[in-house]
Amino acid sequence: MTPGPTGDGLVSVDEHLAAVLAAVVTLDPVAVPVSAARGRTLREAVAAAVDIPVFDNSAMDGFAVRHADVATASPEDPAVLRVVADLPAGTALDPPIGEREAARIMTGSPVPRDATAIVPFEDTAGGLADSLGEITVLRAPRVLGAHIRRRGEDAVVGDEILAPGVLLGALQLAAAAAAGVDRVSVSRTPRVAVVSTGSELVAPGSPLLRGQIPESNSELLAGLAAEAGAEVVLRGSVPDDGDGPRRAIADAEALGADVVVFSGGVSAGAYEVVKATLGDSMTFTKVRMQPGKPQGFGRTPAGTLLFGLPGNPVSAAVSFEVFVRPALLELQGRADAQRRVIALPAGRAWRTPPGRTQYLPVMIDRSDPRGWRAMPATGGGSHLAGGLGRAEAYAVVPADIDTVTAGDLIDVMLIS
Ligand code: AMP
Ligand code: MG
Repeated sequence: MTPGPTGDGLVSVDEHLAAVLAAVVTLDPVAVPVSAARGRTLREAVAAAVDIPVFDNSAMDGFAVRHADVATASPEDPAVLRVVADLPAGTALDPPIGEREAARIMTGSPVPRDATAIVPFEDTAGGLADSLGEITVLRAPRVLGAHIRRRGEDAVVGDEILAPGVLLGALQLAAAAAAGVDRVSVSRTPRVAVVSTGSELVAPGSPLLRGQIPESNSELLAGLAAEAGAEVVLRGSVPDDGDGPRRAIADAEALGADVVVFSGGVSAGAYEVVKATLGDSMTFTKVRMQPGKPQGFGRTPAGTLLFGLPGNPVSAAVSFEVFVRPALLELQGRADAQRRVIALPAGRAWRTPPGRTQYLPVMIDRSDPRGWRAMPATGGGSHLAGGLGRAEAYAVVPADIDTVTAGDLIDVMLIS
């Protein structure tokens, strides 16, 4: 596929994404302790260093016995055994168990070599109360080996526990720890600079003169970058005149940034500062999507990726989702950069732009737990930044769909 304009001068979302991803060079891996790896992307498979379970152990609190001694035990004809040892968790003992003998054993303790079943306390007459003298077994174990968890049942040394490319969350890291692994190879954290452009922008909370608005895209894009596993090394704002964007790139590169994300200043107006100053480093493309049509993308000679996203807050959010996030995940070597998409009926009708893929921020109406529905979170205008706060997903409506009516099944891309 050769990315490039067709007919109307617009390229498809897939074409632009492919051009972006083609410029991504995966970052180097680094080794980190498992305890510091949450949120990182695994780069080398994790293999078990120990068997799971590590040794045959008891699944119940009770008694380790010879199965034959209790195989016919019943309330009418109980088996009486002498308790010859006590095995708390962590014990290294492996006491011999003779005929009509038992060892008291706790969950997770190693099962003596001579034992072939565990009788839980519930199946003896005295239970825990008289458990260090003689016991009266009232019920036979269901099978030979009952309640014994076998060594290596889950994994043996060398088995792959985690595949390269996975996002390391609590469950994955616990699995690595259980497999006796203390260090993992993960991607270096991508460093991102976020630069807002616009002479109308002032810090949120500042008094607003006529024409000024609170600057919100740096909060948005820094947050989204962090959620995609990046470290934000620079956050700033530049006016619509001067060469702020060029100086911002120099500052970002001095801080080791891998990616600079600009917002604003890339569309068709008169004071588009990113377009005006970075024409030699970025290509400006019109993408067949709404919002997010104007997109700038490039790479500096040093290899820093440059994104020029449109400034409307919803456009910036969607553009990040569709182009920047996949690039950040690709930088980290993430195997699956796709969001989960589910099909939900539209809760009401909405308008769609002809000939463009629509990304509409939606809420998910869960009032009927068996009948979730997608409800627009914003009025549909890309400037409606407040409604973004209600969004929990994007409805993705293909370019060839002209209208959405209530009940239509819609692809909904989950973003949390
Ligand atoms: P632009 O893409 O620069 O033409 O901006 C489009 C719209 O988004 C304008 O209404 C801008 O005021 C607004 N906008 C641009 N950047 C930001 C920002 N960082 N925070 C909030 N609104 C912005
Ligand atoms: Mg602007």
